[in-house]
Amino acid sequence: MDRRQTEELLAALPKAELHLHLEGAIEPDTVVELSARHGMTLAREEVVARYTYRDFLGFLEAFKWVTSFLRAPEDYALLIEHLADNLLRQNVVYAEVTLSVGVMLRREQDIEANFAALQEAARQAQAKGLRLQWVFDATRQFGPEAAMEVARLAAQRKNEGVVAFGMGGDELSIPTEEFRGVYDFVATQGLHRLVHSGEIGGAESVREAVELLGAERIGHGIAVMRHERTMDFLAARNVPLELCPTSNLRTGALALQLRRAQAEPADHPLRQLFDRGLGVTLSTDDPAMFHTDLLSEYRLGLDLGLSASALARIAEMGFEFAFLPEEEKHALRQSFRARTRSLGLVYWPA
Ligand SMILES: [Zn+2]
Repeated sequence: MDRRQTEELLAALPKAELHLHLEGAIEPDTVVELSARHGMTLAREEVVARYTYRDFLGFLEAFKWVTSFLRAPEDYALLIEHLADNLLRQNVVYAEVTLSVGVMLRREQDIEANFAALQEAARQAQAKGLRLQWVFDATRQFGPEAAMEVARLAAQRKNEGVVAFGMGGDELSIPTEEFRGVYDFVATQGLHRLVHSGEIGGAESVREAVELLGAERIGHGIAVMRHERTMDFLAARNVPLELCPTSNLRTGALALQLRRAQAEPADHPLRQLFDRGLGVTLSTDDPAMFHTDLLSEYRLGLDLGLSASALARIAEMGFEFAFLPEEEKHALRQSFRARTRSLGLVYWPA
């Protein structure tokens, strides 16, 4: 199979995206459209310039900036519409979309109305073959109290497709320990627990996310690449890493972990972590802000020397580690394998 055939095969595979921020998926043209809706004039070039970062804090600034154009429920609905089209084009059939509810609260938005618009847009996506569920995300630097408010809102909507509570933002701002109460509450509510960690923080931050907060998947976690014991720990607990290679390159997180001024795609530990037997999934994180899409992430996997079979296995893990009921997960994996077999790719033990 040549490179082009392999890429076509990967494009044809049904896929899942588990680490995807809605606010990071706003294409420059959509930002221009949103700003016009709210009586502002903004040039596309300006958006593109804003979507270029020197470091992680620069990225967080841009994220804050772009969310300032999300003001009304219709704005959120529009985003889901565009996102769904993008995902369906890439044969993504299931996604867990992260919503920055912490940011919505800070902007004093009507969460109820926003969520109703999002749900309606999700129903339309479902009719086209894309199943969406939600992750309510708190911003770490806003502190435990604000996070608790997000957790309560998530719990109130757990029967409406909110499957998890997560925390992103500046990993180095407030110690993990301080969010223990919030995550304990989340666990009692039967919601899944996610934490961005080991992105710009160290391997100990990943261990703490699992041990103190009960994280079931780790957002990024690339810091573990040089820590054998933490990798063993994750493997033993079957806690996967949601890897987003392009994100780590664009935010400078990978360079930071490698203690270098610059990191190259070839430096990304995706292949190393997979070969070591860790659970890994592939995602885009903030596709518009990082000028990427899911297929590009799979292509990067090929560049790293991963085979089509290995990448198919990674794609399957996207379903395996999804926060779906067992029967539904089983059905998705069955149809994934059937599709893989029909594409001439069989990689699992008989
Ligand atoms: Zn993220």
